[in-house]
Amino acid sequence: MPFVRVAVPVPALDALTYRVPDALSAPPPGARVLVPLGNRLVTGIVVERLEDSDLEVKDISDVLDAEPFLNADVLRLAVWVAEYYACGVGEAIAAAMPPRAWVESERYAQIADGAAIGDERGMRRKILDRLESGKPVRVDALAKQVSGGVHAVLLALERDGLVALTQPLKGKADAHRTVRTVRLTAQGHDSEATEGTTARLGRRQQELLSLLRAAPDGMDVADLAERGIGASTVTRLAAAGLVSIARRRVERDPFEQAVIGSPAGPAPSEGSHTLTVEQRCALDRLLTLSRSKRFATAVLHGVTGSGKTEIYLRLAEDVRSGGRGVLVLVPEIALTPAVAAAFRNTFGERVAIQHSGLSDGERHDQWQRVRRGAVDVVVGTRSAVFAPVQRLGLIIVDEEHDGSYKQDESPRYHGRDVAVMRASHLNALAVLGSATPSLESYQNARSGRYDLVTLEKRVLDRPLADVQVVDMRDVYAAEGPDAILSPPLRDAIAARLERQEQSIVLLNRRGFATAIFCRQCGAMAECPNCSVTLTVHRALRRARCHYCNYSMPIPKACPHCAGPYLEQVGYGTERVESEIAAHFPGIRVTRVDRDTIRRRGAIAAVLTRFARGEIDVLVGTQMIAKGHDFPRVTLVGVISADVGLGLADFRAAERTFQLLTQVAGRAGRGEIRGQAIVQTLHPAHYSIVHATRQDYAAFFADESRYRKALRYPPSVALVNAVVKARTSRGAMDDAGDVVRALRTDGQTFRVLGPAPAPLSRLKGEHRAQFFMKGTHRPAMRQALLEVLNSRPEIKRRTIVDVDPISVL
Ligand code: ADP
Ligand code: ZN
Repeated sequence: MPFVRVAVPVPALDALTYRVPDALSAPPPGARVLVPLGNRLVTGIVVERLEDSDLEVKDISDVLDAEPFLNADVLRLAVWVAEYYACGVGEAIAAAMPPRAWVESERYAQIADGAAIGDERGMRRKILDRLESGKPVRVDALAKQVSGGVHAVLLALERDGLVALTQPLKGKADAHRTVRTVRLTAQGHDSEATEGTTARLGRRQQELLSLLRAAPDGMDVADLAERGIGASTVTRLAAAGLVSIARRRVERDPFEQAVIGSPAGPAPSEGSHTLTVEQRCALDRLLTLSRSKRFATAVLHGVTGSGKTEIYLRLAEDVRSGGRGVLVLVPEIALTPAVAAAFRNTFGERVAIQHSGLSDGERHDQWQRVRRGAVDVVVGTRSAVFAPVQRLGLIIVDEEHDGSYKQDESPRYHGRDVAVMRASHLNALAVLGSATPSLESYQNARSGRYDLVTLEKRVLDRPLADVQVVDMRDVYAAEGPDAILSPPLRDAIAARLERQEQSIVLLNRRGFATAIFCRQCGAMAECPNCSVTLTVHRALRRARCHYCNYSMPIPKACPHCAGPYLEQVGYGTERVESEIAAHFPGIRVTRVDRDTIRRRGAIAAVLTRFARGEIDVLVGTQMIAKGHDFPRVTLVGVISADVGLGLADFRAAERTFQLLTQVAGRAGRGEIRGQAIVQTLHPAHYSIVHATRQDYAAFFADESRYRKALRYPPSVALVNAVVKARTSRGAMDDAGDVVRALRTDGQTFRVLGPAPAPLSRLKGEHRAQFFMKGTHRPAMRQALLEVLNSRPEIKRRTIVDVDPISVL
């Protein structure tokens, strides 16, 4: 008697065991099934088959797929994610599924075209009878009329060619993506031969028929309209039974709109460069690794502008021509269109670009194309690591240090680490590329676990930008504490304006002012739901919380003492923009941050204008520090390099170093040498000193020493847990209970805390946190899960973050 373990989409739940009743044939791992859960019927994924089980278990209700819906390798990866990140297996599998895969109510059945229905009995007969009319019937409606495993029987009927199953995608997201197609019916085909039929038709109708005879796949209504054949002609012929009109789904390429045509993309010559000697060596090494068809991970450490993309392309081409698939992960496509565009130019139709702006329907289409093997190369963000690429041979993680690879909700996986694990499952090569590798990856490269491939020079011997540090303490002394633009930065921008070159000005903080302060009582305007101050957004005339989005009109009087003496303190990008506009009358300045690019496609539009030279100065948050390539940008100004340094986060220095190095790498990518000006209150801080020299090795040495001394990753493994509760007392008490239970004799890890989380209140909930530090992750996870499983009521309110990238 077979049993199956089934993952259901319920947080923190393990796979559940079910029996396969005699009437159903056992579904393979990766297939979807319907199972009873409590008093509901839910869709689940079979994780494994068991021959035996001594558990008293329920039966699965139905089988939705005769073949695996998820590939074996993706399923295995998702199961690993669940275990490693200590989350429910259903949550991990959900991350690997295309949208709507859980929604079964939308499946329809109908008699297949040309079905020869013979003598059928039992369930098969009952179902066929109900489909007799020939119209599609919703499967869930059928299931109500015919009890038993309707889906399983339908799958058998489909296999026998009697029934067609469809799952039309509905809803707004897809509405614009179907086109109406006109096709000749059998009668229409015959009409030519049938005396008198065509003679009675009008000229347009005859024209339509002859057009369609030449188009066996039919023609779109829109194309016909362009040829002067209107809807009335079509409907009249349809009424006469000569043509049929069907909706056809089109796989529109959203990438087209987002990137193609954007001059921010690569020069057309991409892919045709003669490699530099350094590039050649790096490529050869990577080719050797990939052709060995054994698992390997290589860190490609190349300074900004060293031509990593070129190497990715050639490596990918080699893997593809060897018959294997390629996966390319990028932090965010809208912000780094160049890499995606380069792959699109090289691989054309065989590449799928997974874009954060895709609608569910678009994602679903793409997923199916990839799974069908119609695509060899997938370029996408974090979640693309689960893309069902066939015969995967290479995974590239570009800008591998980027924090956006870590998902900040369950499953809290790191796309880079999942990529490496996937490569190891498949004997593939993982390439982690960056100008500023994460400490983790570089440490692995140094210890020999990963291969290290280095590019030390920029292509064409372009020099790195000249970096100047401005000590803002001197500026404040000379110009007062309100100074935002230092004299050197002002002069540098003015010089660019004169020479018609462009500048990028960066501040990693949004809004106009970061707080509202009452001079009478000293209170700050705080978010009612979170323990943070409200940020002033002047253009919107609102004060807003950046964590929960609460907002209110900018107060005119203190909310505490009603005093009128309110002062706005701190500043963000909006203020910098207005400062620059005020200082340089007539300047064309544009701001890019999450406030200005809410609309889909907005960022691409701004970058296009910038690339065309229609903007003099681009002000923005770290978004504009990423991999763009604008040859006319010769100046990058960093307003405050210290944003983030003060945070109680062990990665603060690393993030600062990465940001400054990346941003300095933006200047001078063309013929003219670039300049970077970095304003700071801590000119001697090692992250700033090393970044200005673009000295990764020195930074790595200092930072590793610090991490080792304070026992932070990568010298130990870290697990962060946050317990949420209605009161701060409750959160601390519950976290304290868990911590006490974790502190047992002979454990191999340390437990620190609990303490109120740095963000002690968020979205109305109080938060306490504790850490586990050790060298053996499985022991830490197991101990924590054991304690939490014994306290399900606390577990429900606990966030477990394995390998956190931020502990705030
Ligand atoms: P990275 O990603 O390492 O910062 P890119 O791949 O963006 O660098 O390359 C920087 C620029 O140099 C791009 O405009 C690219 O087209 C160009 N480039 C790359 N390789 C060569 C080469 N061998 N010769 C000339 N130009 C090159
Ligand atoms: Zn809030």
